Amino acid sequence: MNSLLSTLLGWVGLAPPKIFCRRKVWDAGTRELARRTLGERRESGAYLLGRKAWTGAYEILDFVFYDDVDPEALATGIVTIRETALPRLWEICRARGYGVVADVHVHPGGYGQSTSDQANPVMPRSGHIAFILPNFARGRPRPGAIGMYEFLGAGRWADHSKRGTAFFRVRWRP
Ligand SMILES: [Zn+2]
Repeated sequence: MNSLLSTLLGWVGLAPPKIFCRRKVWDAGTRELARRTLGERRESGAYLLGRKAWTGAYEILDFVFYDDVDPEALATGIVTIRETALPRLWEICRARGYGVVADVHVHPGGYGQSTSDQANPVMPRSGHIAFILPNFARGRPRPGAIGMYEFLGAGRWADHSKRGTAFFRVRWRP
């Protein structure tokens, strides 16, 4: 969307979020992340695949769980992304016609980024979004109660967590 229209919509409270996801996809994906902590004994995570909508916002359409592309990804209890998993990920993206629009991982406690989260963006390109779900993704994680970070490049991040649904919206319908 052009920036003038975006600005005008912002004034009347209709600005599109940066990223959104249908409720069914988000709830199923976050439930599965909770299940993959094996009774809250380890972290889990996923690449979020999707595409850009006409508004310029990204739509999340699919979760690709780290341990599905790399069986060792969760072995240490903390998510470890290995380069060897990437060819498999690109293959899935090609097959589905999607790109990686964000990533998500769970924390045992709060949703703040760890030093390692900040130092190792999953997709090291500016504009990439990283979600962190607190409490092993227990309950129904929603914008406003989760970590939402945007990689700006050169080790810098913007923290959008407090923006809630202005940044990320979970929708009933497409
Ligand atoms: Zn983390």
